[in-house]
Amino acid sequence: MRILLTNPRGFCAGVRMAIDVVDRVLDLFPGETIYVYHEIVHNKHVVGRFRDRGVVFVETVEEPPPGAILVFSAHGIPPSVRERAAERGLHAIDATCPLVTKVHSEAIRYARQGYQILLVGHKNHQEVIGTTGEAPGATQVVQSPADIPSLRIADPERLVYLTQTTLSTDDAAVIIDALRSAFPAIKSPPSEDICYATTNRQQAVRTLATEADLVLVIGSTNSSNSVRLTEIAQNAGTPARLIDDASGLRDEWFPTGAEVVLITAGASAPEDLVAGVCRELVARFDATIETRDIFDEDMEFALPGNLRRTMKDRGVPDADRPIRVAKPVVTADLYGAVPLTIEGE
Ligand code: SF4
Repeated sequence: MRILLTNPRGFCAGVRMAIDVVDRVLDLFPGETIYVYHEIVHNKHVVGRFRDRGVVFVETVEEPPPGAILVFSAHGIPPSVRERAAERGLHAIDATCPLVTKVHSEAIRYARQGYQILLVGHKNHQEVIGTTGEAPGATQVVQSPADIPSLRIADPERLVYLTQTTLSTDDAAVIIDALRSAFPAIKSPPSEDICYATTNRQQAVRTLATEADLVLVIGSTNSSNSVRLTEIAQNAGTPARLIDDASGLRDEWFPTGAEVVLITAGASAPEDLVAGVCRELVARFDATIETRDIFDEDMEFALPGNLRRTMKDRGVPDADRPIRVAKPVVTADLYGAVPLTIEGE
């Protein structure tokens, strides 16, 4: 078996930042119960590891006691949640990804200018709930072209579409084309809303999937971008499976040893889980590992302002250090084999 490891894969800067926020808060307030509104990122291992450290995940702001620390997840929140948290006297720390905040700002701006917003995305996703909440009277969610006939449009000349950050670029293009056909004057967002991490991970899979007999996506089933990676591999004609970790591997997926297996990971999946899957395949099938570099990423985000201020007040030296994601280093002891080739290096 040959394992092809895609780059980029796994953590994006927004997920890294959100996880660092909870880590920092735990360090700053030892012994205090830390609450997180919604799963900090959509990965069951990340959430489970924080639960093991005492973090309590809540789905309403009514649950934490007054005065408690409440971290908002990377997916963002509607303003009503922020306001209610303040009313209840909670100390909020906002780990919303800045690229989600950008879409919120666009929604606010267009609604103020009198536009109706067609938000392309998944209705019940936390991010879409948050963005819709910025302009609830002006926003309608479009999940597929089939939704277009039932949209209520006041003025087709004052329409804009925005998108969820983690959509499939292929699916979004189909919906946006349908919106443009129905409403030729519809405006586009000033810059692409589907984020760099989603786009790059999808493009890497699109580029490499046809070289493989099987694509394994490491991620959780509630992770939108992980599910999209699986669909993109399948659309390229290669069977693909979404698994949380090595325990999800099934013998029947490897009837002849599946000679070439492409491995990627959603933006919320920790790299140690990727390494665990590689170790398992190396042990079972004597697999070799090749890394395939499609894009280099160097995005970085700052920690939330109020957290940085608290860190500085407590004398923490690196409060202003930007959060970035280092490219994973593949080593024999972690992955089971040294990489045979590293393209692009
Ligand atoms: S997937 Fe994109 S929008 Fe979501 S946290 Fe990562 S960088 Fe931010």
